[in-house]
This record gives sequence, C-alpha cells and structure tokens, in this order.
Amino acid sequence: MNRHSVVVYALFLGVLVWSIAFKGIAQEPHVHFIDVDGKIIAEVTAQLNDENVYLSVDAVKQVFDPAMTDQYNHPRKRLTLRTKNKRIRLQMGKTTVTIDPGGKIITLSMPPMIIAQQPMVPITFFTQLLPILNDVEVIYNPSLRRVQMRPKGSWIPAEETDSQNWAAIIDPGHGGADDRGCEGNTGLLEKDIVLALAKQIQEISKQKEMRVYLTRQGDTKKTHFERIQVANRNQGKLFLSLHCNASFSPHEKGVKVYLNNPKGEIRFPTAVGQAPAGQRLKILAQANFLKQSRDFAFVLQAELNFLTEIPVTITELPLITLSEIYMPAVVLELGYLSNVEDLGKLSNPEYIASVSQAVTRAIQRYISSVNQSAPATVSEQ
Ligand SMILES: [Zn+2]
Repeated sequence: MNRHSVVVYALFLGVLVWSIAFKGIAQEPHVHFIDVDGKIIAEVTAQLNDENVYLSVDAVKQVFDPAMTDQYNHPRKRLTLRTKNKRIRLQMGKTTVTIDPGGKIITLSMPPMIIAQQPMVPITFFTQLLPILNDVEVIYNPSLRRVQMRPKGSWIPAEETDSQNWAAIIDPGHGGADDRGCEGNTGLLEKDIVLALAKQIQEISKQKEMRVYLTRQGDTKKTHFERIQVANRNQGKLFLSLHCNASFSPHEKGVKVYLNNPKGEIRFPTAVGQAPAGQRLKILAQANFLKQSRDFAFVLQAELNFLTEIPVTITELPLITLSEIYMPAVVLELGYLSNVEDLGKLSNPEYIASVSQAVTRAIQRYISSVNQSAPATVSEQ
C-alpha cells in the first residue's frame, strides 16, 4: 500500500465510520404526540422491534399521566402501572392486560417487551388501551409515527337531530369517458381516486349517522349545474369538492385546500375580471359563507396535517366553480399525480382510507362547532 492509497483508505474508513454513526443517529426513531389542532405536544424516543414501535414507561407518563406510578417485577417480568385510580397489569411477551378494579381483560395486538433491558410498551398500548382508561380517542399514523389523542365527546352534536338534519355534499371531480381529470404515469386517474375517496367518506359517515350525498355515484359525466342541484336539492350545509393536482414540475407535491374568496390573493383575469355583472354578484353571494368555509378549511387542514409531512396549505381564490353554491364550500386537492411520492400515496388503499377517516372527522368537527355556536339555524342571509 503506497502513501497515496493509505490516505485514500483512511479517508474511506473515516467516511464509513461517519456514515455508520450518522445512520445510528438518523435511525433512532421518534414518536410525535399531536393535539386535536395538530400541534406537537411531545416528542419521545422510541425503540423498534422488527418494524414495531415501542415506548418506555417514562414516555407513557410524559404524554398520558405524569402522576402515574410503575412497578416492575424482574423475575416474573410483570409491569404494574397505577393511574387515575386504576391498576394496569402487563406481562412482558404476553398480549393480555388486566385492568383493576373490575378485572377487565384486554388483548393487545402486540405484547409489551424487554428492549435494551427496559420494559417497554407497544404503540397499541396507546391506541387500544388509553380509550378504555380515559375518555379519549387515539389515532396512530404509522408512516409518520404520530399519535393523536383527543377527547371522545368533543364531536358529538349538542342535539342528535342536528346531525340528522345536516347534510354534507361531497363532489368527486370529473367523471365519464371525456373527463378523466389528471393522470399519473402509472395510469392512475384523478376521477377514480376522488370517487373511491368520496364513497368511503359516505360509508364512514353513514356509520356515524351523518348524512352525506355525492354529486356522482359512478363514473359518469356531470355538469357543473347538476352538481349544484344535488347540493341544493339535499339542503346541503357544506360542499366539499375533491380533486387531484398535476404540475409540469415533478417536485411539486402536497395536499392543498382552496376556498372561494372574490378578493383572494390570486386573480384570474380571464375568469373573473371579464365575468358579466350577474356572475360577479353570484360570487359575492357565495362569499357570504367565507367565514364558515374558512372554519371548515381550518379543521380539514388540522385533520389532514396529521397524515402529511408537508403542512397542508389553504389558499383563497376567486373560484368561479364554487360561485353558485350557497353554502360553505371548499376544494380539496389531494396531491400531485405528477409527483412520484404523491402518486405512490394516492395509489395506496391504506392512505386513501386514512384520508377518508380524516375528512369525515373534519366534517364531524365542523358540524359540532356549528351546532355549538348556532344551535337553531345556520345563517344563510
Ligand atoms: Zn380536478
């Protein structure tokens, strides 16, 4: 080995050591705990066992109950947690958990384990057990390792009849052979993604006894007027139009929410500037719902932020497509079919399922807030 190759070799070793060290740091996983508005309330380090995420007992205390006490029996591998007058007994390697008083037995989908000589609980401890111990709902996003906890009762409308009188209109954009919307390089079509999503939202809403109508049920062409008719005929109180984006730039990506504001930040001179006076008046009428559209856009943003790495943006534009809809209205662009990552997500049925859950939660939260602030009538003047 000559001097030159020694230097090269040393340099190579240095890079190797550095990359191993860096990889070590980069791979230490974190779990983020998110509040109901999407803000991070805690970041805790986790351990991976195969692909499963495990958290220490201290992490449970940090995010759930700082007053919780724990006791670990080494020979018997038993962990006892005491929180809020309840005693939770777990055994390492066993999926059954006992909750006293009452002796209730719950079976976790993953067992607690000893990892790095510490008793640790799987993420299902949060998703399965916490809703039973407390009046909370827990959602987990495995790809971004985010856990969201929120009060269970917070969405239920003040009166049950309110949600039954309430109809949301979901408008899957495009449809039919002539109008396929945008297209991914895998052949995935916008019209199919938005219809699949709309149907799932309708299905989940039905389970929650919320009324949701779709502007098209199948792969059919619908005019703008026909879509509005569905909204008006069913006395919709909220209009959500679903679309996907495409861009010449393959880097453009992310979820975007748009709402109609005639004084919005971007002008479309061809659409609005030259619109006849009558049409401009209609835009202004829809603008009466601007505040409510914003309220819905904010809850939609908060719910969808939980699923996405890049924050969801809200843009206010003079949107002529929403101008004849006399109710709060929002356009949701689910992602860019021209971007590899977005296309991958939108091709994944699990991702679509989580988006439909998030959208339904947003509708439910919006209904609850409207019912709480104005129980009898939603202002329509
Ligand atoms: Zn579209």
